[in-house]
Amino acid sequence: MLFGKHYLMAPGPTAVPESVLLEAAKPIIHHRTPDFSQILWSVSDDLKKIFKTRNPVYILAASGTGAMEFALVNTCSNGDRVLVVVGGKFGERWLQIAKAYGLDAVVYEVEWGSAPIPEKIGEYLEEHPDIKAVFTTLFETSTGTTYDIERIAKYVRHSGAILVVDAVSGIAACDLQMDSWGVDIVVASSQKAFMLPPGLSFVAFSKKAFGLVEKSNLPSYYFSVSGYKDAYLSNTTPFTPAVSLVVQLKESLSMILEEGIDNVISRHALLASATRAAVKGVGLELFSSNPGNVCTAVKVPEGIDGEKLLSRIKDKYKVTISGGQGKLKGKILRIAHLGYAYAFDVIVAISALEMALKDEGYPVELGSGVRAAELVLREGK
Ligand SMILES: *Cc1c(COP(=O)(O)O)cnc(C)c1O
Repeated sequence: MLFGKHYLMAPGPTAVPESVLLEAAKPIIHHRTPDFSQILWSVSDDLKKIFKTRNPVYILAASGTGAMEFALVNTCSNGDRVLVVVGGKFGERWLQIAKAYGLDAVVYEVEWGSAPIPEKIGEYLEEHPDIKAVFTTLFETSTGTTYDIERIAKYVRHSGAILVVDAVSGIAACDLQMDSWGVDIVVASSQKAFMLPPGLSFVAFSKKAFGLVEKSNLPSYYFSVSGYKDAYLSNTTPFTPAVSLVVQLKESLSMILEEGIDNVISRHALLASATRAAVKGVGLELFSSNPGNVCTAVKVPEGIDGEKLLSRIKDKYKVTISGGQGKLKGKILRIAHLGYAYAFDVIVAISALEMALKDEGYPVELGSGVRAAELVLREGK
């Protein structure tokens, strides 16, 4: 078992630090108690610092998609016209939710691997002044692409529409300033940069978003924001929360805030930069024209079977990175540097990539990527 140790380097779920894992081993506390309310108060306050907002951040027992649906059902009405930015699998997910609720979706189709052009969103809003909401993504995980939410927000904030951002993979890895940029709804979840197991998601609404809540006529019960809003004011939750995950959240947030949210983001930026240097050092190409801090998408080189390469990295070297989703299956690899990830994690992923490429007969010079990564990591900038 030379390669017997597993490394989880996928863009979610991500590795969980030991101190966070241990919190889940503690006895369950009842959720209608001052002890639990105290924890809830503390994590709610800390979440605001991550979201960079003064709005309350609600905690749901659901995966990220649940929080996406929560955002939409509470603000939209049957037949509403909305704009959906689709440049990957998670943009497609917004579109599927919009269709499931009978919305009239205008689609801004973006080539996979490219970022949307903010001006274009302005043009869509001018062309369709009845658009109620713009649904987009901070980091399109399926293509490894960062979207410029700050500039997109400039076009949306003076329109009648709200800006809804799926920041599930991006938050705490990429910069996002909900209040100062003017984002109306931010959606996040536990199993990415928060370094937690899957199962919790987070969502915050601006005043402008709450303005639509009153008019929304879509049916909801478990996901109705009014219950969360009332419960929040008394430091409780409308239904039984995922108690252990909330206790674990307290630990992971204290780790993030101890390092400092902006330092955590800088660490992600540096790991991403080292990974990109390494990919080029190996002689491979990046897939995205606007790559970023969550994961690095790499084109599978000509003549190499992408699925075989990926299984070799996973099964022989025990490094779990991701392949392409949907139409990108077999065409790209995605190396995450997300959450509980540090300098040597990049070295592990690149080393496994180099060795697997060599196994597959690709002419790679062993150490060429590792060396390139080391040069970036040692400099630390
Ligand atoms: C992981 C991810 C999601 C959430 O998916 P779930 O499986 O429902 O948690 C949503 N959006 C993006 C961009 C993601 O990376």
